[in-house]
Amino acid sequence: MTVAPRDGLGVFAGYHSPQVDVPIRLNTNESPFSPPGQLLAAWTKAVGGMNLNRYPDRSAKGAIRAIADFHGVSPEQVFIANGSNEVLQSILLGYGGDTRVAASFEPTYAMYETIARVTSTPYVALERDSRLLVDLNRGIDDLKVSKADLVFVCTPNNPTGLLEESGLVDTLLGRFGSLVVVDEAYGQFNDESSVPLIQRYDNLVVVRTFSKIWSLAGMRIGYAIADKKIIETLWRVALPYHLDASKALLAELSFDYIAEMEERVSFLISERERVQDRFGSLDLSFWPSATNFILFRPKIGHGHRLWELLLERGVLVRDWSRWPRLDDCLRVTIGTKAENDAFLAALEESLELL
Ligand SMILES: *Cc1c(COP(=O)(O)O)cnc(C)c1O
Repeated sequence: MTVAPRDGLGVFAGYHSPQVDVPIRLNTNESPFSPPGQLLAAWTKAVGGMNLNRYPDRSAKGAIRAIADFHGVSPEQVFIANGSNEVLQSILLGYGGDTRVAASFEPTYAMYETIARVTSTPYVALERDSRLLVDLNRGIDDLKVSKADLVFVCTPNNPTGLLEESGLVDTLLGRFGSLVVVDEAYGQFNDESSVPLIQRYDNLVVVRTFSKIWSLAGMRIGYAIADKKIIETLWRVALPYHLDASKALLAELSFDYIAEMEERVSFLISERERVQDRFGSLDLSFWPSATNFILFRPKIGHGHRLWELLLERGVLVRDWSRWPRLDDCLRVTIGTKAENDAFLAALEESLELL
């Protein structure tokens, strides 16, 4: 006999990004580089000496202190979890639920809706304007009409790659007045961060991840920075010892390699500009990116067919072609120089065949 899952999960598909085994995978915005060798050597050595028979430090003090120092905040303003997705889930466990409404401006990161559903939080999809940016005045009106208690703002936004207008978050915090969650998964790619605003607003949470620039997607580490009352709530809904000892240590040690991280950012930005320059001479439109990925669309349409043609040439990109407002769009992650060249060659060939 089949037992039905909890109400609200019935027709719901969950996260879906195919993991296809092809030579060139440019579909999930990971870093193309391994973490720095010295970091891995220091970490594996330390892990060898750990007392794994004991539960880890429940408050992950070392990692929390390193994150706090990096951002110039106090340790009481930092929460850490298994990837920023788990941070987002903790936020909804703490501030969502069936009597609260969560909102975000679409198209945006699909996990906001997914995690809202998983935590029984009603979700409202608000619209971006024709530029695919959040229109501040309309956005605030829409938030009020939808009676949202919490809004996710992803900046730079995934999958568009666009940075929101400066001042958006600040104004939203003052005028919306409820919880604003700013997802800065790609925050290292520009100088605009909402982190300094946490000293002025106690309704802001900034979420960051080690999955992209820190080259640690496989390790699942993310964190939140917010007023200490919010951070206390996040710790309250986290499972005891939710972060394993080896992961907490890796997060802590990573901050000894900031220069390497910044070097990767510069490299990826220069490659991104190179790929965008090439896009300019092809039959494509694209959104100028503030991240390590680019959203683009063949001018003659047939986005899904283009995705297939690229895959046949061993290049996997992300297919957004059937998403509302993203008709025919694909998203490519910036990889190594060789990967980007292979992508561009496959793209030119595929566009000829389209
Ligand atoms: C990649 C990404 C994340 C990262 O999620 P993790 O769970 O930390 O791997 C979060 N938000 C956005 C918008 C992303 O693109």
